[in-house]
Amino acid sequence: MVDIRKKPPLVVAGYQTRQTPQLKTIPKHSSCFCPADYAPYFGSLFRHGCGPTTLENVWKHLLPDRRLFATPSGRHALWYFLTLANLQPGDEVLVPAYNFYAIVRLLEQKGLVPVFVDIEPDTLCLDPQDLAARITSRSRLVIVCHMFGHPADLSSVMTICQRHNLLLFEDCAHAIGTWCQQKHVGQAGDGALFSFGIMKLLNTFGGGMLTLSEHWAAAYQDPVYPGSAISSFFRTFSRVLLSFLMTPRVYGWFLHPMTRLTSMLAEAGWSSLYSVVPSTRHLSLYTFTLASRAPFKPFMLPMCERQLVHLEENIAQRKTCVDAIKADLLSIDEIGLLNEDRHGCANRSYFGIYVPDPEALAGHLEQCGIATCAHEFNNCAALPQFAAYQTNCPHAHYAAAHLLRLPSYPELSNSQVRQIVTAIKTFFQKG
Ligand SMILES: *Cc1c(COP(=O)(O)O)cnc(C)c1O
Repeated sequence: MVDIRKKPPLVVAGYQTRQTPQLKTIPKHSSCFCPADYAPYFGSLFRHGCGPTTLENVWKHLLPDRRLFATPSGRHALWYFLTLANLQPGDEVLVPAYNFYAIVRLLEQKGLVPVFVDIEPDTLCLDPQDLAARITSRSRLVIVCHMFGHPADLSSVMTICQRHNLLLFEDCAHAIGTWCQQKHVGQAGDGALFSFGIMKLLNTFGGGMLTLSEHWAAAYQDPVYPGSAISSFFRTFSRVLLSFLMTPRVYGWFLHPMTRLTSMLAEAGWSSLYSVVPSTRHLSLYTFTLASRAPFKPFMLPMCERQLVHLEENIAQRKTCVDAIKADLLSIDEIGLLNEDRHGCANRSYFGIYVPDPEALAGHLEQCGIATCAHEFNNCAALPQFAAYQTNCPHAHYAAAHLLRLPSYPELSNSQVRQIVTAIKTFFQKG
C-alpha cells in the first residue's frame, strides 16, 4: 500500500487549489491511436476498396461460430435484428434496466414493450433470477448487455431463454475481447451487436457489426443505406476529428475546455446545448433514424484488423491498471468495488467504482486534472420518458446513482495511475 504522506498531495487546500495544469487533463477515454492508425482512413480518400479481406476474415479467430454483417452502428445492428426477427407490436422485450437509453428507445420505436429487469450489483449485467420473475406469455426476446465489458451470466440466461422459448440478443458494444465460458461473447444466442464508435474499445470512426446464427443469417439481406454521400463523408470526418481531439496529449488543449464551457452554458440556461454535451440528467427524447450514421466503409476493415492485433495487449494493460487502482482503493470504506470477472473474463473497457456521491468526487478529480464520468448510464426503469414501463429495479437505481467511471486505458503511465489513486484518497481523507 502506498503511503500518500510521502508524496505531496495534489490538492492541498481544498477544491480551489489547482496544482495540475488543466492542459494536462487525463481524459476518461482514449483510443490509443498512433498516427499510422489514421492511415486507412486517409488512404481511402485517395483510392477505393481495401483488397480482398472480409469482416468474417478479420474476426474469425474471435467469432468463429457466427455469420457477421457490417452495419453503420451498433444500434443499426439491433434495429436490423428486430426487423429480421419479425417481432410484432406489443411483444415484450426483456432488457436490463441499467442501460443506454437509446437502446430502449429503439424497442419503443418498433412498437415493442420494454420490460425492465434488474441487474446484478457487482457485474452491472442482467440478473437471471429477476429475469425469470418478469417473463410473461407476451415475452419474445431477451437482450443481455455485457455492461462495461463485464460478461453477463450467459449460461443462466440461455437456460431461461430455452425453457421459455425466447429469442436472445447480446449487446456487445462494450465487450470486444470479453470472454464467457471459454468463448468470445456475441455467439450465445440468435444475434448480437458490436459497436466501433469513437468512445468504444475498438474505434473505426463509427461503424458496427451484427452477428447472427446460421438460422437467421440465411434470411438476412443487407439493408440499403438511405443517406447521401456528402452527409456520410461529414459524419465520418467529424469522428476522425473528434478522435484526434480526444488523444490524451491533445485533449486538454481544446476538447476539454470546450466541453467545460459548453456544459457551463448549458447549466446556465442554454439547455439546447445539452444536445452537444449530452448530460444524463437532461436526456432529450432520442429518435433513431436509418440515415443517422454513415454506412460501414471499406477502410474500417483494416482499422479493425490493426487494432485486433493489439487487443490482447490492450486488455492486459487495462487489467494491470484497474487492478493497481482497485488494490489501493480497498482500504477506503466508502468505496464499493465491482466483480468484473464473475462470469468470465472482462475486457475492462470501462472501469467503474461505487461511491456515495459520484458528482462530488468527479468535481474533485476534475480539479486534480482527471476527467471521469458520473451517471454515464441510466436506470431506464425510472426515466420519465419510459414512465409507461416503469418498475422497481433497486440495483439499477443504485448503480445509476452511485457509479463513477474512471480512466482505464493502456496509455496511462504509472505516475498517472498514482495521480488518480492519490486524488481519490485525498478526497476521502478530507471527509
Ligand atoms: C454505444 C453503445 C451502443 C450502441 O452503439 P452505437 O454504435 O453508438 O450505435 C449500444 N449499447 C451500449 C451499452 C452502448 O454503450
